[in-house]
Amino acid sequence: MTNTRPSAAIVGGGLSGLTSAYRLQEKGWDVRVFEAASIAGGRVNTVAESGYLCDTGATVVHLTYYRWYMDLAAELGLHVSPSPPYFGVYRDGRVRLLRMDRPLRSGLSTDLISLGSKIRTLRLAWDVGRAKFGGLLDSVDFHKGAPIDTETCREYAHRALTDEIDAYLLDPICRVMQIADSDKVGKLTLFSAMGNVVNGQFGSLDGGQQCMVQALCDRVPVDLNTPVQSVSEGATGVEVVYSDAAGNPCSGTFDACVLACPAPVARDICEEHRDLLTPLCDIGYTRGLGVSIGTTRPPDSPAVFVQVPSCEDPAVAMIFIDSNKSPDRAPSGHGLLGVGWETDAAAAWFDRSDEEIVERTLTSIFRMFPELRGTVDYTHVRRWEHCLPFLPPGATGPRAAFQAGLRRESRVQFAADYMSEPGQNTAIALGTRAAATLDAGRRRAGVPQAATSLGGG
Ligand SMILES: Cc1cc2nc3c(=O)[nH]c(=O)nc-3n(C[C@H](O)[C@H](O)[C@H](O)COP(=O)(O)OP(=O)(O)OC[C@H]3O[C@@H](n4cnc5c(N)ncnc54)[C@H](O)[C@@H]3O)c2cc1C
Repeated sequence: MTNTRPSAAIVGGGLSGLTSAYRLQEKGWDVRVFEAASIAGGRVNTVAESGYLCDTGATVVHLTYYRWYMDLAAELGLHVSPSPPYFGVYRDGRVRLLRMDRPLRSGLSTDLISLGSKIRTLRLAWDVGRAKFGGLLDSVDFHKGAPIDTETCREYAHRALTDEIDAYLLDPICRVMQIADSDKVGKLTLFSAMGNVVNGQFGSLDGGQQCMVQALCDRVPVDLNTPVQSVSEGATGVEVVYSDAAGNPCSGTFDACVLACPAPVARDICEEHRDLLTPLCDIGYTRGLGVSIGTTRPPDSPAVFVQVPSCEDPAVAMIFIDSNKSPDRAPSGHGLLGVGWETDAAAAWFDRSDEEIVERTLTSIFRMFPELRGTVDYTHVRRWEHCLPFLPPGATGPRAAFQAGLRRESRVQFAADYMSEPGQNTAIALGTRAAATLDAGRRRAGVPQAATSLGGG
């Protein structure tokens, strides 16, 4: 089969890949998305069961900082509803409530940390402000923060702040951003959260986060159950070897390809870029364990999410109260909680049964929300082998080397959150960038002899 339009294979039907496909198609390319799983979306997934809508992966968006996400949502006709401004931190048997829209006032009046620690947070504000206005906090080009990517959050707290600030401010933020404790997470992630995310508002897509995936799948062709085994770039095209939905070995040649799958998969299937990808694979991903809990009454707290410090609970790191986040996630009068486990605890419990994981999770939930005892009418357990690209200190080095090593004129481009700081906004930004790079290359070279030829068997 030949075609006069340029063709692109997209490996991976998560937000990065779907965005690349959508943007390339818009520019006149024929696109084909290869997705290994039986549904598209990757780490954006909404499970609809028993009247609940559980966002098992990505949960919220930031209304002002997520520019790429908000623009695409508007373009696709999707509506993002703002969430209430409340969040909480659990300390000594109580959820301490804070407000995202009044960080200064609620920070000064909270009893979460002592007056001495509050005064010491001025140093934190100064350091974050300097990084922000120095252009170091860019979630789409995370490697710009390399000059301050030198220590863990806990090391920073010991050097410049107090142990109490680490325990009840930095550690809880790390446990939301990376779902990992502050002794593992690089300071840059903390600064990025404080400089870009605090002092804004969260929101979520009406109908579930997966609505964006669905809207993109309605516009671009996606082959499900079609894992790609290899991608190789030649002088006239890119050969893609894959299995079709029936498991038959197939291959096809395209003018270009976007690799939008996790780093270890990209390394295995793309020989040419193996050396560039290996350092990113060595840093790896966090492990994820998420438990959705439906209840016949809502929790008393108005918080959208509750951060749980490691000194309070080593396993449960954060709790999204999805029924507060967006009322459409639970039946009227019910509650829905999304509980995230800390990465090491998740790894230790990964192979335990759902029943054991639910039982352990509920022990924590009933301690923090005793009013929910006896009200649970739904549970769902989700395991993530590749949860979030891990960002320990020094994670910017391999990311910078990777970006620098990519050739703009290559027919193979990359789009995935391991290239920067994870998040739906990053995925969309990098998907858009990969499409723009390929299209610019095509224009520089003139319209190429189209290479599409799909073989099978
Ligand atoms: C528990 C959790 C909570 C999160 N919370 C938030 C949040 O609140 N806000 C936020 O902005 N972000 C959040 N994120 C991060 C966000 O979900 C990701 O950064 C983003 O969705 C990554 O998109 P992606 O397309 O780069 O990767 P993925 O979504 O991982 O997509 C990669 C795709 O490649 C496919 N694939 C793999 N191998 C192959 C192969 N051989 N051939 C073909 N296809 C293949 C996979 O099946 C997958 O569909 C969260 C993530 C998790 C896991």
